Amino acid sequence: MLALTWGITLQWLAANKAMAVDTARMQQNNLSVIVSENLEQLLDGARTIAFTSKEWREGSPAEVTSRLTAMRAANPAFLRISLYDVEATRVYSSSPVPDDPFLVAAVSDALQAVSDVDFKGLIWPAMSALPEDAWHMPLLFPVGKPGSTPVGMLMVMFDLGYLLKVYQRIEFGTSGIIHILTGDAQEVLEWRPEGLVFNSRKRYFVTFAGQSAATGSLMTDLFQDGRVYLSSFNRAERYSFLLVVSRSMQDILAPHLKARSHSLSTLGILTIIIIAGAYFIASGLGRHGKLFGALVVSNDKNRSLITRLEDEKGRAFLLAAHDHLTGLPNRRTFTELAMSHLATARQHRGHYVLMYLDLDRFKLVNDTLGHHVGDILLQTVAIRLRASLRDSDIVARLGGDEFAILLTGLASVDDLPMIADKIISQVSQPFKTQDGQEIHVSPSIGIAVFPRDGQDFDSLCKNADAAMYESKRKGRSTYTYYDTGLNSTSERRFNLEQRLPKAIAEDELVLHFQPKVNLSDFRIVGFEALVRWQHPELGLVYPDDFIPLAEETGLIVELGEWVARSCCRQQAAWQAEGLDCVALAINMSPLQLQREELPSRIESLLTEHDVPADVIEIEITETVLLKSLEATVMVLRRLEALGVQISLDDFGSGFSSLSYVRTLPIHIIKIDKQFIRDIRNSTHDGVLVASIISLAHNLGMQVIAEGVETLEQLIYLKTAGCDQAQGYYFSRPVPAASARDLLRNGVLAPS
Ligand code: C2E
Ligand code: MG
Ligand code: MG
Repeated sequence: MLALTWGITLQWLAANKAMAVDTARMQQNNLSVIVSENLEQLLDGARTIAFTSKEWREGSPAEVTSRLTAMRAANPAFLRISLYDVEATRVYSSSPVPDDPFLVAAVSDALQAVSDVDFKGLIWPAMSALPEDAWHMPLLFPVGKPGSTPVGMLMVMFDLGYLLKVYQRIEFGTSGIIHILTGDAQEVLEWRPEGLVFNSRKRYFVTFAGQSAATGSLMTDLFQDGRVYLSSFNRAERYSFLLVVSRSMQDILAPHLKARSHSLSTLGILTIIIIAGAYFIASGLGRHGKLFGALVVSNDKNRSLITRLEDEKGRAFLLAAHDHLTGLPNRRTFTELAMSHLATARQHRGHYVLMYLDLDRFKLVNDTLGHHVGDILLQTVAIRLRASLRDSDIVARLGGDEFAILLTGLASVDDLPMIADKIISQVSQPFKTQDGQEIHVSPSIGIAVFPRDGQDFDSLCKNADAAMYESKRKGRSTYTYYDTGLNSTSERRFNLEQRLPKAIAEDELVLHFQPKVNLSDFRIVGFEALVRWQHPELGLVYPDDFIPLAEETGLIVELGEWVARSCCRQQAAWQAEGLDCVALAINMSPLQLQREELPSRIESLLTEHDVPADVIEIEITETVLLKSLEATVMVLRRLEALGVQISLDDFGSGFSSLSYVRTLPIHIIKIDKQFIRDIRNSTHDGVLVASIISLAHNLGMQVIAEGVETLEQLIYLKTAGCDQAQGYYFSRPVPAASARDLLRNGVLAPS
């Protein structure tokens, strides 16, 4: 479009230029014709006068003179006329003033040069000087019969001002020039806007001399002034002169050049605008293209992001809904699922049963073997539970070692014992760690049947939980149906927890003492101090019911202090009675042993009651060795340094090995009662106990068996070389007064 516009514009400019030149040429041609015609008319007038003058010789001079005077007066362009005879003597003049001598000389020259009269042969006198006035132009006409020798010469003085007046209105530009040339192209008159130059006889016009045409135009460097002129000429028909109208091309083309520069600059600006616009549009389009590309890419990215987000959402939902460790539904999901089942349960024939399941001794596994083993154990339990149940049943992990099961659409509640037994036997299967160590854990199960044991999910949960606690209380690895009395158990726990601080402060606690008997001579060599709570409403409460609460709340430290103080006081009392004192063993909770000040507290209690250190023994469990071992060992060493004996309680229930225990300040190993229980029936346990005894001896430690209930157990232990025994067989834990009696006897021989 732009190229087309440029093409059209340039073409139009070329046409415009040609038109300007043509118009100028036409104008100039017209002007040259008009002016020369006008001039010829004037000359015709002068020639008529010359013609009339010839009668001057023939007619009366006076008459000729008056006619000549009248003819001159009739023509305002003639300033004056003078008639000369062949001797160049003025015979008549319309003016009394004599003609300039150089004019007379010119007349004389003309008379000599002209041989015959030819009116066409108009004489432009070449004068050595200008006439009196630059506006006057003399013209000479021979007088006489045409074709004959002239009889005189008529001088007609033209008023050039007359001509100027006629043409002054012609708009002829600043460079317009009119020239009058002689027949042989000598300049007679140059007529410029700024003035007239007369008789210069310049010969710029040689080119015109060769022109045979009557009229035409030329484009030449006319004045050799570096400018090109367009000159139009017209050759007079009746006289031998040429009229040339010239104008500089610069002048002619000025409007065109102005229009041209205007057009070109406009078009130039337009071009720049269009190109810039096109550039911006193109770059905009480019940017747009890039943006579009980027948009497509980002769209793709977005789409993949959305897909990923959806995947993540799905995963997050799964994670949020499921227990991350076992993959079972978590508490929230279980609640939702169970509630939706229970909502429609009444419409179905089957029974709905909620089971709460807690792993016995799981905390110990976690604490002794590490969380890693604990986690794998939980995963295994989850797999076993799932495998023991139908797909329609829901198994969930509620947290920690607690699981919940919703049996759905059970045909008969009579199946429940079978299901619970199956779960117990499956979960109780030995579990092998990576090191090949076998772990035994068992579940305690509480069962609540819908709607008998609870009309809604919450009450079913509460009751299944209470039943589960009852299982734990009964000795674990068992299941318990909820019965209405059970709820009082959990309420009881709550009340105990609330009242415990007061119980310590107000001395509601009492110590019972269980003797430790030396198996070589059955002498009482010590007592284990076991705390009880003489509850004003509940009666005697056993430590299993409140020691865990005290440990959870941290009150165990205060409680332990109370026990230690009571033991020291008891020893002091027995000493005062003159009894042979034996060691009193105090059970120490891990929390107490973590306290640096324990040895100094014990020491100050001993000092306070003035009892020797060797009458105090400390029982620790393996779990104390798991947390901040270094600090604990430091405390144990300081106790040892005081002279306090240290025994490791419940040995075998955890997972410590004797070789590990050897490195610790431990003097006595107490074999856990679970190994003693089956010592006669299970060869496994028997062998285990025997090997513990012999190993401990090799390591320089004493061994005491706890939970000895039968003579068989006693015999076995004695045979195995066990040092001491403790258990119901000899005596249950008894109040201080009874313990004093036992001590007084000093021997507990088997019956
Ligand atoms: P433990 O230290 O292993 O104490 C032995 C437990 O076994 C005592 O239960 C005792 O009554 C019981 N026992 C003794 N002989 C037999 C037997 O022949 N057969 C059976 N089945 N059991 C027997 P108790 O008194 O209920 O104490 C339970 C646990 O409470 C103790 O286990 C001990 O860990 C903790 N405990 C008791 N008193 C204190 C205390 O003053 N401080 C701390 N921190 N813990 C205590
Ligand atoms: Mg103990
Ligand atoms: Mg024990």
